[in-house]
Order: sequence, then structure tokens, then C-alpha cells
Amino acid sequence: MTSLDKVKQRAEFDAKAHGYYLNPDPEFLLNLLEGLRKNEERYGYPSCPCRMATGEFEVDRDIICPCDYRDPDVEEHGTCYCCLFVDSGTYASKETSPIPERRPMEKQLRAYGIAGEGQPELKQEPSSMLMNIGTGRKILYCKQCGYVVFREEPPYVCPICRAKREMFAEVKARLFFSTGS
Ligand code: SF4
Repeated sequence: MTSLDKVKQRAEFDAKAHGYYLNPDPEFLLNLLEGLRKNEERYGYPSCPCRMATGEFEVDRDIICPCDYRDPDVEEHGTCYCCLFVDSGTYASKETSPIPERRPMEKQLRAYGIAGEGQPELKQEPSSMLMNIGTGRKILYCKQCGYVVFREEPPYVCPICRAKREMFAEVKARLFFSTGS
């Protein structure tokens, strides 16, 4: 089993090698590292703690930490999507705000089991995702910012407001979706 210390050492080493810093908030950082550790235990690789993984290496390859999107995100926004890696300015100011998800929507939906190989090409916008949810997954929302995810377990950290996973609750209401056809 990978220890938390090892996960931290790896992240520190990687941050240093690229001229980045780890998030300066110790508690927040610990949550993310613990998320990485748990994902590595579960899948065999440290998939992103803010994103949904499938458990299939080839599908999840782009979100194995450090993900394919980290460098352009730190370059453009001063932080990666989860805010694990930050640039010197963000590290010094300790101020972060949500950044847009750079991972292609097709890949995100595939993680939810909605789109993928052998399935129809995805044509809808993210806002109409609800129309296509029929997977029986839990609907979870962040009590702090209202961010909604469809997965069995909440992310370790909310990618929008950075709230801890304890802030996620399940939507118990039964939802009915119309296909419009
Ligand atoms: S967003 Fe950050 S924490 Fe998540 S996989 Fe990318 S680099 Fe790692």
C-alpha cells in the first residue's frame, strides 16, 4: 500500500522539477494527497482526486496525476484543476479560484458511462447532460457551491469551491428526465 508520505514526496519532487509549488494550505493539501493515495489503492494508479475515473487505465490515462492538463492550466490560471500544483504567484498570494475543466467533454462523459467507443457520437452540450443520465449513479452536490456530480462517491475536494468531500450530500429526490422525443 502506498503511504501518504510517499504520495507527498512524489508530488513535491514533481512540483520542484517543474518549478511549481504544492498548495500552501496544509489541510487542503492533505485532502488531495489522501485522495491520490486512495485512488492509487483502488485503481492501481493515482488518478485525479477531483475527477471521476473509470478504473480502465487507457481511459483514465490523461487524468493520472500529474494529468495531461496540469501544465497548460498552471500556465494559464496559476493552478491545476484541483489546485494541488500552483505557480509561485498563487503560492505567495494563497488566493485561488475555480478554473474551467480542460478535459474534453467526451472523456468526462465516458467516465460517467454515458459516451464512449461503440456508442453514438456525443452531440449535446454539457448543460443538457441531465437528459442523458440514466445510469443509476448517485447525484451528489456540494453544499457550499452547488456543484453537481454523478458518481458513487464525492470527489475528495470540490473542483469549484475547494470544499472538502464532507460538504457533498446526495440528492434524494427522484428525478424524471424528458428526452423531448
Ligand atoms: S488536476 Fe492537479 S491533482 Fe488533478 S490530476 Fe491534474 S495535476 Fe493532479
